Amino acid sequence: MTDLDSAVWPMSVSRSAEGVLAIGGTDARALSAEYGTPQWVVDEADFRARATAFRESFEAAFAPLGVAVDVYYAGKAFLCTAVARWVSDEGLRLDTCSAGELAVAIRAGVPGVHIGVHGNNKSDGEIACALDYGVGRIVLDSTAEIARVADAAAERGIRAPVMLRITTGVHAGGHEFVATAHEDQKFGVSIAGDQALAALQGILARPELELLGIHCHIGSQIQDVAAFEATARRMLELRAALAAATGVLVPEVDLGGGYGISYRPGERGLPIGVAAQAIAEAVGTVCQELGTPVPRISIEPGRAIAGPSTFTLYGVGVVKPVTLEDGTVRMYVSVDGGMSDNPRPIMYGAEYTAVIANRVSRAAPVLCRVVGKHCESGDIVIRDIELPGDIAPGDLLAVPGTGAYGRSMASNYNLVPRPPVVAVRENTSRVIVRRETVADLLALDVG
Ligand SMILES: *Cc1c(COP(=O)(O)O)cnc(C)c1O
Repeated sequence: MTDLDSAVWPMSVSRSAEGVLAIGGTDARALSAEYGTPQWVVDEADFRARATAFRESFEAAFAPLGVAVDVYYAGKAFLCTAVARWVSDEGLRLDTCSAGELAVAIRAGVPGVHIGVHGNNKSDGEIACALDYGVGRIVLDSTAEIARVADAAAERGIRAPVMLRITTGVHAGGHEFVATAHEDQKFGVSIAGDQALAALQGILARPELELLGIHCHIGSQIQDVAAFEATARRMLELRAALAAATGVLVPEVDLGGGYGISYRPGERGLPIGVAAQAIAEAVGTVCQELGTPVPRISIEPGRAIAGPSTFTLYGVGVVKPVTLEDGTVRMYVSVDGGMSDNPRPIMYGAEYTAVIANRVSRAAPVLCRVVGKHCESGDIVIRDIELPGDIAPGDLLAVPGTGAYGRSMASNYNLVPRPPVVAVRENTSRVIVRRETVADLLALDVG
């Protein structure tokens, strides 16, 4: 139970002789004493290494095809100025999808040409901000946006670099993927019925728009590289069809994010090197079949960079045995956060693991349910887990894999202030997003 599966924990995590969890050389008890609980603890070196691994794996895989790959970190997984700088330092670009994310990117000094802007319902303000800052690409999500962005560019006397988000019919996530011809979801323009082809021709008809290429994003937490291969085929076929219809061969294809990770010991994730090789092979093969040159490729991982770099450090409070109908006892272990800092269990049925972080225990394991402090019986952090039977108030519980869609999806439910994000690196720690206070919450309430 005290084993730390390296597929699940940040790379600098270890246990001392007394069983205390340490990360980046810093003891979990010291982190708790200095910053309080709950807190997210991010291993900066781990985060940077995953970012670099994406860039290097994809560059290496596509080098034989003679094309470059741009890796855009999907900021929605977790974004703050420190993270924006880390990904820039590591040679990645940044995807944003709101005025807020764009503001963080700008504050961090990310060059405009390295920023992408997404969104199925961009506001006029967001389009204006993107154009005024000179972002490298705006990903158009509907035919309606073609005229809006073209008009905004015309007003400024500039050409807006755009891509079109395509719904390919391939949807993936979890352990399966499905390919459907007809689309019933809000993103993008469907390949079906030549809708995408018509929209692309609409873009080419507007001189204020520079069509960089076509974009897709098929889902998240994808474990099966076949979903990416199927998607690449459809995208490259669309690119060829556009070239046949208009003579314009767009230079770039974005294959989106969605690379799966391991949340619990024994889960496999999607090894990045393997995925990069398989996707490059698929792209090479399809381009050869179609007789088209290989495009520049971009990808947009979020979860697979941020997720495994971080754990949540909770304080254990009430520990309550509950006798079930069949006579067995389930120990309810309440922590000082819950669905407000990790909504994934209640939203998606997501499953996590945990260890006691402040000591080693030789007590026999008991069946536990780790729950939060919110006024919902569904406020569960971990539905079923075996933890040492002597788990007690005052213990620290570390839950790994919470770097993506944790802080970025956190809420103030029950007016619980959001925890801080603490970055550790080489025996030092620092707050990169501070803890929200009750005063912050009251400041919003203007009576
Ligand atoms: C969410 C999203 C991503 C990142 O997805 P991950 O599963 O975190 O890798 C990339 N691109 C777009 C357009 C997205 O919406």
